[in-house]
Amino acid sequence: MTDIKSLTLQELKTELTAMGEKAFRAGQMYDWMHKRLVESFDEMTNLSQAMRNACKERFDYVTLKAVQVQESQIDGTKKFLFELPDGNLVESVWMKYHHGNSVCISSQVGCKMGCRFCASTLDGWERNLLPSEMLEQIYAITRMTGERVSNVVVMGTGEPMDNYDNLVRFIELLTNEDGLNISQRNITVSTCGIVPGIRKFAEEGLQVTLALSLHAPNDEKRKELMPIAKKYSLKEVLEACDYYFEKTGRRISFEYALVGGVNDNDGEAQELISLLQGRNCHVNLIPVNPIKERDYVSSNRQKVEGFKNKLEKSKIQCTIRREMGRDIDGACGQLRRRHVRKEQQEDT
Ligand code: SAH
Repeated sequence: MTDIKSLTLQELKTELTAMGEKAFRAGQMYDWMHKRLVESFDEMTNLSQAMRNACKERFDYVTLKAVQVQESQIDGTKKFLFELPDGNLVESVWMKYHHGNSVCISSQVGCKMGCRFCASTLDGWERNLLPSEMLEQIYAITRMTGERVSNVVVMGTGEPMDNYDNLVRFIELLTNEDGLNISQRNITVSTCGIVPGIRKFAEEGLQVTLALSLHAPNDEKRKELMPIAKKYSLKEVLEACDYYFEKTGRRISFEYALVGGVNDNDGEAQELISLLQGRNCHVNLIPVNPIKERDYVSSNRQKVEGFKNKLEKSKIQCTIRREMGRDIDGACGQLRRRHVRKEQQEDT
């Protein structure tokens, strides 16, 4: 069965003409799927019943079922736990900002990257998400909230560069003018630093923002926190980021999770400054969201502010990430993990 929602308009035309349908039907179907966001072939009322039935036999129509929705009492952030067609679970987050609504999506079921502070990787990697499954996180949320999504960040569970082809296709479909038509500039892809992926991504001719999960100012400390640092040195990662900037003109966003007593002292701030100085970039400081499986703690407010001031004095642009939805299992992968654990306990 072909996954119909992962097809481009052109591919859909080819599929439908092979079925003996007129090519213009592809435009109609694309509109139902990617603009009107319907949940089944049966809602496509300008297609004949015979055609809808033929489609049901030939295509998978991926939709996600929300099995849990949590809403933050602090800031209105909503966290969705979705069930995929094969029963796997992924989570997505909807955040309201003054500049529009933002959705954070997952790109894989689980993750194999092993970052020490992250909950998404604790149970390992299960599988890649299809382009349709990435899109559907946004479509389902749009249907449920009734509000348009203007920004998408690929910062949920998974390493997008480890699911490269599906990621690029997802971006193509999401930004297509016949679909949700989200601006490329409003999309951010976050990576732990897979060098060949970053370099390839630089050559796609896209205007997407790249976020690089840095988290440490030197290789030694970075290896402690992120196993991927054993494979690619900071030098190689930063060169790949420079290449991305050179090719796209998009300034890199460096993510730095502040972990109390681990990467937040003055010396480390200074090292970070030396590392990034001269680059057109932005640093996002994130007080780490502690997970109970590790004993990492967040840096205190004073440390966070101090770190920020130091960077700014050296003319490095930086913001402290607003902590959205802290009261609702905010940290990546926590909601899914909790749910899966609970089910396992109930089963035994
Ligand atoms: N694999 C990609 C994208 C998913 S993680 C990446 O590594 O960038 C998205 C961001 O959340 C990354 O910067 C990641 O390091 C960060 N993150 C993961 N767990 C966190 C936690 N407990 N507290 C704060 N940030 C965390």
